[in-house]
Amino acid sequence: VIEQGQPEHSVITTCAYCGVGCSFKAEMKGTEVIRMVPYKGGQANRGHSCVKGRFAFGYANHKDRITSPMIRDAIDQPWREVSWQEAITFAAGKLKNIQQKFGKDSIGGITSSRCTNEETYLVQKLIRAAFGNNNTDTCARVCHSPTGFGLKATLGESAGTQTFDSVMDADVVMVIGANPTDAHPVFGSLLKKRLRQGAGLIIADPRRIDLGISPHVKLDHHLPLRPGTNVAFINAMAYVVVEEDLEDQSFIDERCQQENYQQWREFIVDSRHSPENTAEITGISAQELRAAARLYAKANNAAIYYGLGVTEHSQGSSMVMGIANLALLTGNIGRDGVGVNPLRGQNNVQGSCDMGSFPHELPGYQHVAREELRTKFEQNWGVAIDPEPGLRIPNMFDATIDGSFKGLYCQGEDIAQSDPNTQHVQLALSSLECLIVQDIFLNETAKFAHVFLPGASFLEKDGTFTNAERRINRVRKVMPPLSGMADWQVTMALSEALGYPMNYQHPSEIMDEIAKLTPTFAGVSYEKLEQLGSIQWPCNEQAPDGTPIMHRQSFPIGKATFAVTEYVATEEKANRKFPLLLTTGRILSQYNVGAQTRRTDNQMWHDSDVLEIHPDDAQDRGITEGDWLGIKSRAGDTVLKAKISDRMQPGVVYTTFHHPESGANVVTTDNSDWATNCPEYKVTAVQVEKVTSP
Ligand code: SF4
Repeated sequence: VIEQGQPEHSVITTCAYCGVGCSFKAEMKGTEVIRMVPYKGGQANRGHSCVKGRFAFGYANHKDRITSPMIRDAIDQPWREVSWQEAITFAAGKLKNIQQKFGKDSIGGITSSRCTNEETYLVQKLIRAAFGNNNTDTCARVCHSPTGFGLKATLGESAGTQTFDSVMDADVVMVIGANPTDAHPVFGSLLKKRLRQGAGLIIADPRRIDLGISPHVKLDHHLPLRPGTNVAFINAMAYVVVEEDLEDQSFIDERCQQENYQQWREFIVDSRHSPENTAEITGISAQELRAAARLYAKANNAAIYYGLGVTEHSQGSSMVMGIANLALLTGNIGRDGVGVNPLRGQNNVQGSCDMGSFPHELPGYQHVAREELRTKFEQNWGVAIDPEPGLRIPNMFDATIDGSFKGLYCQGEDIAQSDPNTQHVQLALSSLECLIVQDIFLNETAKFAHVFLPGASFLEKDGTFTNAERRINRVRKVMPPLSGMADWQVTMALSEALGYPMNYQHPSEIMDEIAKLTPTFAGVSYEKLEQLGSIQWPCNEQAPDGTPIMHRQSFPIGKATFAVTEYVATEEKANRKFPLLLTTGRILSQYNVGAQTRRTDNQMWHDSDVLEIHPDDAQDRGITEGDWLGIKSRAGDTVLKAKISDRMQPGVVYTTFHHPESGANVVTTDNSDWATNCPEYKVTAVQVEKVTSP
């Protein structure tokens, strides 16, 4: 007898929110999920979860779900519901027409970090094999692309070095530009556990985050750096280590390239990097910075965890390399309790990068210009691959406005809300001749679309996600796709209509192909995932069960490379017209642009974005709690309610971007990282004043 609320059966799957990748048991009654129970056997979470994974899954059945394909000839026309076949034929016809008129490079696609590895792999294959170009990019462009670039350049692999459990062996933890208790809560709890046991804590962040004010945690140093000065800060840390002879010379001698190290050393010992000479730039007192550098360098095991406060800057890639420099200099790489650990935002952002979503890299970060790598894919796919790297997302927008880029396939991304300088993005999207949006909701981007292909929620997917510790977790189908088609089947249908048929019966066959072509995935299969529960790549002949800690004996590039990271001030400076610096972040209960969390039946998820402002700045402007504030930058303006908070430092204001009506990205500019074009979301000079109404 089934009692009210008792499940009839359950399916083990993976959370579709953050990069922790918690495993859950979806408890079912018929085809309805009645509960998500954190799964004790989950190797990333061991029975723990946060509120989002546990309670915010109702969006999967929300009334806003679109389950029928829709088309229209122009964006001012109403949508017409059509069959899958008609939608695919319509979309393929438009793309073919554009290519005939404007050439093969006039179309491209964006993959999603919300989708599975297998789905992402197929979209980039569609673009390379059926579109015939490398115009593929991923939303990682706007978050962790500098991590991929910076860690590959220094350590030889585009991924974090540790397993989450490694933090339990850390004696000192430095958290830079991350807010783990809000954005990666299950890892945040593990970190707190280690800190309660006595590990030292350094936080480098313009804002006082929860971890630093928790009564149960002893904060050794808060380094309240000014937004945009990360590289000056990290260079000063390295300067202190070298000046005070705190480096790990035997690690440097054995594991790092010597000539390169000597060049870097000459660069860093220059007194312009001293804490005394950088204090005015960073806003961090020299004494405090020296004490923090000593704490980090003298620890037996020191670990760095960082987030988007590191990457989303015009010097994001330099900062990632600066962090790697510091870890190499002090020998904090290649064992438990140490490392360089990017906290990835989305459930599968690591995977979307691993799967070849970048315009210059095939799956496994294999450069498309290298003939021997390209040939391997060409032989397997039976098609020639363009050796020229394609367009990045911001270049796609620019090329659209210039008139050379006309068609875009956007899967599982809401670029009209999430990308910076909304006005510019909207102008580009409205100029496209064909925009195909595949999503579970009619999102902001779909307002500019000609074809809407209904996507599947994580509960309707079979496949894998890869979390922030390179852990490949199985995602298991809990219910059939509401639209009748799995996302990988839709990509296959579009590919066939474009003249490049693919033939897979199940996502496991896609993973088998990935394993064949990607050395770091060579040993991965669904069978092995069932046996082991999950696998951390690299998984291959040398590491048949995967690799929890990377770089133990050697680096993929042999010896590690120090990078010269010159501090270059951002163009975005506070001035008389725009006297405050705006930086952005997230709160625990919401997730990114809020498309899922805002559609959850619980008041907890019905908040709104606010502007946090320091009491002194508020007083100067006659602002009181709850006032409406007009926020203006050189890109645009928006209105938010005031929250007066001493978490902010004077001169810096803060908001989140979870609600489309708040328009945080209306004010962010199109400044971007010099190496990867990751937008500088974290620094916008703004003017803030009281207004009477929104
Ligand atoms: Fe999901 Fe992240 Fe929360 Fe885990 S910590 S339940 S992965 S949102």
